[in-house]
Amino acid sequence: MKAQYDVVVIGGGPAGLAAALAAEENGAKSVCILERAKVLGGILQQCIHNGFGLHVFKEELTGPEYAERFINRLAGTNIEVLTGAMVLGFLADRTIFVMQRENGYMTIKAGAIVLTMGCRERTRGALGIPGTRPAGVLTAGAAQLYMNIEGYTIGKRVVILGSGDIGLIMARRLTLEGAEVLGVYEVLPYPGGLNRNIVQCLNDYDIPLYLSHTVADIRGDKRVEQIVVAKVDEKRQVVPGTEKEIDCDTLLLSVGLIPENELSRQAGVVIDPRTSGPVVFENMETSIPGVFASGNVVHVHDLVDYVTAEGQRAGANAAKYVLRAGAESAAKTVQVKNGKGVRYTVPQQIRPDQVEKSVEVFFRSTEIFKDVTISVNSGGSLIAHFSREHMAPGEMEKIILPKAFLEKIGGELEVSVTKEEAV
Ligand SMILES: Cc1cc2nc3c(=O)[nH]c(=O)nc-3n(C[C@H](O)[C@H](O)[C@H](O)COP(=O)(O)OP(=O)(O)OC[C@H]3O[C@@H](n4cnc5c(N)ncnc54)[C@H](O)[C@@H]3O)c2cc1C
Repeated sequence: MKAQYDVVVIGGGPAGLAAALAAEENGAKSVCILERAKVLGGILQQCIHNGFGLHVFKEELTGPEYAERFINRLAGTNIEVLTGAMVLGFLADRTIFVMQRENGYMTIKAGAIVLTMGCRERTRGALGIPGTRPAGVLTAGAAQLYMNIEGYTIGKRVVILGSGDIGLIMARRLTLEGAEVLGVYEVLPYPGGLNRNIVQCLNDYDIPLYLSHTVADIRGDKRVEQIVVAKVDEKRQVVPGTEKEIDCDTLLLSVGLIPENELSRQAGVVIDPRTSGPVVFENMETSIPGVFASGNVVHVHDLVDYVTAEGQRAGANAAKYVLRAGAESAAKTVQVKNGKGVRYTVPQQIRPDQVEKSVEVFFRSTEIFKDVTISVNSGGSLIAHFSREHMAPGEMEKIILPKAFLEKIGGELEVSVTKEEAV
């Protein structure tokens, strides 16, 4: 290990791998990936189902296969990899503190940092589900780790709360392993995951999906014995009299992911409360000059292909930052706001004079929409619009704004969904 690198990438998942490769391709002379796990690949290593890489490789790969393609590319490079290396913190001057079994406590200085620490799952504690505290209540990702990496069965009669993609994928996985999945219960009136996962993971296996439902009680002494499900009203409160008891031994929670930003917060990176990730510019730079971010640490992605693209953008721009020895001043910064029907936008800030040709703005809708227009307004006037036949909160949306267009507008633009017809 060196004491100084041009670019240090924190996290070796798909975002980190893409960022490191792009940093070297764009001229960084020394690049290092710090990964706390024993192997690179991040969450992909436990996602043994297929469906990865449709955009990047034009074929359906499993998570480990997708990761392997990028890990293999490291072989022809000078990129250094330190696994089993937990980053404990970093400072705004880009000093990084790392702990690793073989090397102990280390301090590394970086010309630029790329944050790619991914997400963690929301747990029972965050939801405050009442009841006893028996074994058998797991997050879907933890269940995936036990089954796909450690080789354990996690239960025989399973109820899943939350229809996020991980929960849907685990419903199918558990069924294939011989467990009985009694149902997937979702508090919202629409499913949380991708439509393709509803079809391929629930419908194909006759697993029922109950919308506007929640778990009202967990019962059991040592192990889960029974849970109580109930309908909820529009304020997500249990509707009295709708409670139903289900005998089961396992409750899986797939109730959301939280970007892993403890390191970012400690260092003073400005966090967007809408995404729980760093506020970023068009080049994926955070509020701290020379500190970039990409992947699930910025916002929860639906497809890994977008994570890879974002990682490439962050890594390339981190290298450019090092080569020009500092930040470039911008004549104008456009603040990107979310209007009606839009939950958040990434990036949140655009410097038009630093845009090469165009900027991709990613966002999620607040509800399911049919036959709508995505409107971009600035200074009270409509300046661009895009039509969509279907939008759902589970699927990321993207619009492309050209540089020439961004140069003409004032200091703010708002993205909203209009002419909507909520279903
Ligand atoms: C169950 C599941 C199913 C999915 N299915 C699909 C699918 O079918 N198709 C698809 O395209 N996408 C799918 N995705 C989405 C895709 O896998 C993720 O969007 C992608 O893996 C996120 O990449 P990332 O690099 O941002 O984060 P991660 O893959 O989570 O990687 C983050 C890395 O950072 C490391 N790290 C964190 N903190 C530190 C620290 N302090 N020090 C050092 N290292 C640290 C972690 O150990 C981890 O390796 C799925 C995701 C999940 C969870």
